[in-house]
Amino acid sequence: MGISRRDFLKVGLAGVAGFYLAPAFGRPMPPFNEVRKGMRGIPTFCTICPAHCGIKGILKGERLVAIEGNPDSPNNMGGICAKGIAAINQLYDPERLLYPMKRVGERGEGKWRRISWDEAFWELSSRLADILKNGHPEEIIFDLGFSEPLLLRFLNALGGAVYIDRAALAHINADEGHRLFWGKGRGVPDLAHSRYILNFGANPYETGDEYVGMITRLIKGRENGAKLITFDPRLSYTAGKSDEWHPIKPGTDAALALALAQSIVAQGLHDRTFLEKWTEVQEEQLRLLSPFTPEWAEGITGIKASDIKRIASEFSKTKPSTIIIGGGVSQRQKGALTTRTILLLNVLVGNINVKGGYLAPQQIKWEEPLPSPPERNKKANLSLYSALREEKRRTRLLFLYRSDPIHLNPGGIETKEILRDESKVSYLIAMDLHMTQSASLADLILPAAVPLECWGLTARVTPEGKEFISLRQPVVHPLGEPALLRPKEIITKRKREFPLRMAPLGEALALSELCIELAQRLGGKVKESFPFQGTEEYLAQWLAKIPSLQHKGGLSYLKKKGIFILPRLSTIFRKMEFSTPTGKIRVPLVELLRAEPWRQVRTSSSFPYHLVIYGRSVSSGRISNAKWIAEIAHDNPLLIHPETAKKLKIKEGDRVQVRSRAGELDAEVKITEGIRPETVALAKDFTPQGCRITQGKKFKSSDPDTQLLWWGGEKETANPVLLLPQEHDPLGGGMNLAGVEVEIKKIG
Ligand code: SF4
Repeated sequence: MGISRRDFLKVGLAGVAGFYLAPAFGRPMPPFNEVRKGMRGIPTFCTICPAHCGIKGILKGERLVAIEGNPDSPNNMGGICAKGIAAINQLYDPERLLYPMKRVGERGEGKWRRISWDEAFWELSSRLADILKNGHPEEIIFDLGFSEPLLLRFLNALGGAVYIDRAALAHINADEGHRLFWGKGRGVPDLAHSRYILNFGANPYETGDEYVGMITRLIKGRENGAKLITFDPRLSYTAGKSDEWHPIKPGTDAALALALAQSIVAQGLHDRTFLEKWTEVQEEQLRLLSPFTPEWAEGITGIKASDIKRIASEFSKTKPSTIIIGGGVSQRQKGALTTRTILLLNVLVGNINVKGGYLAPQQIKWEEPLPSPPERNKKANLSLYSALREEKRRTRLLFLYRSDPIHLNPGGIETKEILRDESKVSYLIAMDLHMTQSASLADLILPAAVPLECWGLTARVTPEGKEFISLRQPVVHPLGEPALLRPKEIITKRKREFPLRMAPLGEALALSELCIELAQRLGGKVKESFPFQGTEEYLAQWLAKIPSLQHKGGLSYLKKKGIFILPRLSTIFRKMEFSTPTGKIRVPLVELLRAEPWRQVRTSSSFPYHLVIYGRSVSSGRISNAKWIAEIAHDNPLLIHPETAKKLKIKEGDRVQVRSRAGELDAEVKITEGIRPETVALAKDFTPQGCRITQGKKFKSSDPDTQLLWWGGEKETANPVLLLPQEHDPLGGGMNLAGVEVEIKKIG
């Protein structure tokens, strides 16, 4: 007996509010403590989102029955979210792809033949070898929903293959805004010690890249009396928990930030000493802010001038104060500039790198333990798909790793046409957990391992300056057939056995193991770049470079504990070092103001409403088709303000057509005052369309719960990405994923 849905809710954070307590699929479940007798825990870390929380897989015999937070982790401190707990569903999902398959019909016809891994590797390696022989490694493209160890080493070894890193793309504009500001990536607000927090559109009570660690610290800060002010067009969980919610007009955050800055300077509350010592901003340049008054911003943002003045004063006088910037603010066409404008507030009050303020990023950089091939891989953004469509480039091998571009790309219908067209994509490989829309067009389908079956390593610094290393190790023994990469006789002959512990369910394989095996088969320089037998051996070489860990037992210690905290505070903690040409923070006001970063949203008589696309904790492709998650979140209603609903003669539950200049979709209506009247909202939707658990359709399987699925409906959930035009931030390079102007019509 495993963890019940009730336990799932108990263990999850309060941030996943909105769940109701009910027995799983109508069955009563025994108490949590009783269920857990006689179990053992294997420490690892969760990679369902980039927070990388320390967790423990709880096993009864050889079966994983629960996942809990690892209290030794200085980042999440034993906390875990609903997605982390539900990763167990992902492991035992009866709809998982478990064997390699090769297309036998026309592309997209849906006919495949099960093949051995040996045949799959032969297919892959011979195609790669052919492309390399012709001297065009750039015709090899990897589209990565997740980044995994050793992949970049592999791409470098291929001599210049191209990759799209979707996790990084989500922040590319925010990263660029910060890089221009202080020469480094995104900063971290020190929420546990701050006393006044301005939140520009983030939703840390429900979701976010550093979710559990961040909300734990924010709650601590709030318990210590920190005031939280949220600007968001929608009443998010965080807005609802804030001291003040200001429903700002979408895309106008830069105007608000400028007016706050103007008000701080006009009231003489700026920190002149900090500005002079650490920034390139001259006192006289601040006069440029004069026209951007709170009264000017009121008309643009919808926030009262008197509130802007008061907040500017409180933010400056309550020390320490800090800011949070959400993805909906930076994932726009002027996202990098908006980010940079908001960051100006930090320098005006001098809260950079102080306790409770805004901290420069503290990434640990270690040298590769083994000789590496020269860095030749090429990072691309989503415009690569436009280039394929316009025939500015072609690919002879497109490898989708846990990425479903048809579902995720703005202009997904065009992406479908690209993938279908063999003159644009000669060979399509999908390595995934499920049969996604994009995988259904693949020539070769490979079963991917879930993170609980994989090796990995992460090194991080907490906002408190603790440097630590976490190990991701497989928590389960194989339950299905052991995965044989090659026929047995070859393995025996070469004395190279696939380690039993690494062989996951069915024949699913970790991407890093795939890279190692492919390198062996490609031979030559590629093989030379992989002088190890498996990912575990490679990670052991990394760890051998850390004397304090070796002293404790190295990899064996990490296998037991999961976490190693370095016995010193980070050497880079709160250091006032900025990687700009002058070594000072740069906020070129002339350049910023000229670019008018507040002008991003233009409604018109054809498209009079602005749709905002928001994230939900439980709606993520990273935990797709998990039954507990699907039971909680299986619909995606369009949020509409009562005034708008009245104007459009729409009632709760009606279906409407939502149309933008890029596409259209149908959605059910939910009427709420938690949204601005001229704004509507849909959640991001990452659910694979072909899976019956996601769709709530009953079926027989090894899991009896699949006969109890109850939420199946006739309609597919709305995927708002279909409405997004392909628009890039010219500065940051990221695509607009945050919203678009739409018209709404009642159906019927
Ligand atoms: S926040 Fe949740 S999903 Fe993300 S790493 Fe932590 S437990 Fe996993």
